[in-house]
Amino acid sequence: MERTNAWTDYNKKTAAEVMKTAAGYIRFLNAGKTERECAAQAVQAAEAAGYQDLRQLVLQGKALKAGDKVYLEQMNKAVVLFHIGKHPLSDGLNILGAHIDSPRIDIKQNPFYEDNDFAYADTHYYGGIKKYQWVARALALHGVVAKKDGTVVPVVIGEDDADPVVGISDLLIHLSQEQMAKKASEVIDGEKLDVILAGMPLKGEDKEPVLQGLLSILKEKYSLEEEDMLSAEIEVVPAEKARDFGLDRSMVLGYGHDDRVCAYACLEAQLKQKSAPEYTSCTLLADKEEIGSVGATGMRARYFENALAEVMDLAGEKGELALRRALAASRMLSCDVSAGFDPLFASAFEKKNAAFLGRGVCYNKFTGSRGKSGSNDANAEFIARLRKVMDDHQVHFQTAELGRVDLGGGGTIAYICALYGMEVIDSGVPVLSMHAPQEIISKADLYEAIKAYAAFLTDMGPKDHCSQGEQ
Ligand code: MN
Ligand code: MN
Repeated sequence: MERTNAWTDYNKKTAAEVMKTAAGYIRFLNAGKTERECAAQAVQAAEAAGYQDLRQLVLQGKALKAGDKVYLEQMNKAVVLFHIGKHPLSDGLNILGAHIDSPRIDIKQNPFYEDNDFAYADTHYYGGIKKYQWVARALALHGVVAKKDGTVVPVVIGEDDADPVVGISDLLIHLSQEQMAKKASEVIDGEKLDVILAGMPLKGEDKEPVLQGLLSILKEKYSLEEEDMLSAEIEVVPAEKARDFGLDRSMVLGYGHDDRVCAYACLEAQLKQKSAPEYTSCTLLADKEEIGSVGATGMRARYFENALAEVMDLAGEKGELALRRALAASRMLSCDVSAGFDPLFASAFEKKNAAFLGRGVCYNKFTGSRGKSGSNDANAEFIARLRKVMDDHQVHFQTAELGRVDLGGGGTIAYICALYGMEVIDSGVPVLSMHAPQEIISKADLYEAIKAYAAFLTDMGPKDHCSQGEQ
């Protein structure tokens, strides 16, 4: 039952491919530090691969046939891709789903204030973070400001080497006797996770001169009024760039592997598919997973279902029943990262059922917490079919649970798609230091994930479907 380390099986040529794949992923990560930036990259890559905007096709009433490629972008934060297959859609789709939002710190709607010669932005963190990891480090500002005149001003500060960065201060160790005695969860107060934006008073201003200085910069450089922050989405993210990790360059250190590593693998698998698949291939890049898949761009919203209804209508499979059949007959990999086994925190894991960096893409039959509460459960029969597809394509894969029983837990978008009655299993890349500002993955696992997802899209089918050349 022991799974082997994928690197031991790579020849020189494959190892070079693994490195090249990771280099492409690093570029994707560095250009995608928010869900909006990832969605934009996905749409751009999809269009380059021949995908057309579903909304345009609906307006034109264009009929869809096998081989056609369409995408839907939801509020610039989520993307759905379809590559129409040879079989009717009501035979089900092969779906890859990942999320493109990552834990971070959001700037509040009324953010700015001055305190003792510093101008601050008040924030509210997003997703599960260890707050103490986000202080005393270089942070960048990414997002948009939507103005009343309809224009949307993109903001990216702290990425260019010539840019300034911002950040949150921590107390000097010399005076930290009380702080160091606190529980880790209380070391940094959520309301005090505020970002220093400026420290120079504006000459001639008596009242809050540093804040006035900040506002004048925003006005000069970005033509922004303070009130425009009411309709802004600015995320504070680590300013570091993703890069090779380890002297052997076998890993990648970077912000947002959860879940952009799986999103990237899904995109690669979906977009490299040249000819029409047997069954329609679908890639779903959702937002808001880190806060419960809520909102109009989260997996619980109906944009995926609505998009599929439109696609089926254009493909001549009309009506609610056909849609229900397609959803229920679908097969899905919920592609989200798994906890990588960490030898320094070995007691948090049960080793036989842990995911190891370098041993390939990881399948989780269950997620959830305590007595599997909140979990999806991938059916054994489905897993058996999946094993065959993986073995047929010589994919390195492993199976795992998220840590030791009763220690915590987590969820993904799997249970939401399972509501349709489709077959779903969690599948992803193992990550070290998950949700930290800098997470670690193995390049081999990214490579195997792309291989696994591509094999799934080509070979997976309904229960009675036999893959490639059998019977
Ligand atoms: Mn995730
Ligand atoms: Mn997460």
